[in-house]
Amino acid sequence: MATGFVFHELYLWHNTWNWNQVFPPSLTVQPGTHAENPETKRRLRNLLEVSGILDHLVTIKPRRATVEELSRVHTPAHIAKIREISDRGYGDASSLTPLGAGSYEIALLAAGGAIKAMEAVITGEVDNAYALIRPPGHHATADVGMGFCLFSNAAIAIRHAQQLHGLTRIAAVDWDVHHGNGTQAIFYDDPSVLTISLHQDNLFPANSGAIAENGEGKGKGFNINVPLPPGSGPGAYAAAFERVVIPALMRFKPELIVVPSGFDASGVDPMGRMLMNSSGYRRLARMLLDAARELCGGRLVMTHEGGYSEMYVPYCGLAVIEELCGHRTGVEDPWDQLMGQWGGMSAQPHQTAAIDQAAELVKNIN
Ligand SMILES: [Zn+2]
Repeated sequence: MATGFVFHELYLWHNTWNWNQVFPPSLTVQPGTHAENPETKRRLRNLLEVSGILDHLVTIKPRRATVEELSRVHTPAHIAKIREISDRGYGDASSLTPLGAGSYEIALLAAGGAIKAMEAVITGEVDNAYALIRPPGHHATADVGMGFCLFSNAAIAIRHAQQLHGLTRIAAVDWDVHHGNGTQAIFYDDPSVLTISLHQDNLFPANSGAIAENGEGKGKGFNINVPLPPGSGPGAYAAAFERVVIPALMRFKPELIVVPSGFDASGVDPMGRMLMNSSGYRRLARMLLDAARELCGGRLVMTHEGGYSEMYVPYCGLAVIEELCGHRTGVEDPWDQLMGQWGGMSAQPHQTAAIDQAAELVKNIN
């Protein structure tokens, strides 16, 4: 298996300032670090290097996306606004989304990284790819940057695949703990893109990601939300994949699968209240790989989103990338066994009930 890997040092230079996790500094609590800072990504990249798995990956060099490529998804006003704030040197893309000098160019490099990963998979240069890009993208809508996201990297790559490479059916499976509202909104009336989001019920954005949001117009039926109760772990996620995600993919028959990949559903993440561990993510990756092999020649592209535990995101990312490339490094995740002993790791009845509701939506894919 050839697995492509996208990364660039500049991804770590996007400045989110000294905010207190998600709030601007104030004269209350001493200024700290924004949750979306370089550290988790840097440490994931470092683990890929020291574990030796980097030698088994095909390096894909990112480039900056062009304004034309961004414009397939975003409004000119939004693109201009991000550029203006970046050129000014400091500002907020909307709320809770600070950026600094150079962030515009770095965001172009992130979107372009997703495009390059997509192209490498479509042309057969690699079988699948992981784009470790930053800033993230899945909350950004056509005209608003939000939730630490400036441009919708996955959506830009999907439109690129459709318009330049002629793909007609692409599925996005978002396992970030927060709702993939941006990707949903961008393709909401579009039956050529099946968007699926598994997330903690009503976490972020507020009042977003309900089961009832099932697409509209021609896109009716082609958006599926699986809002999971807080405390859902590997058992619930696997059940959601078995009963909702995989059946939906089988029905939709995509030509390629994209995964906006966040590791903030882990049991030790500060920004979510779920119980996933690295073996849980590994299992989901395995299921998607099997589905991709059956449906679309194994074509799978992952674009990095959230994940805010500096010491745990690397293990989750490594497990997923090990599955993608079929090489085991032998690195042991010490948390995996510990978390495996926690209560609530298997699917609980109230979680299964929520999954069963979402499973009803599969038949709406026509
Ligand atoms: Zn997230």
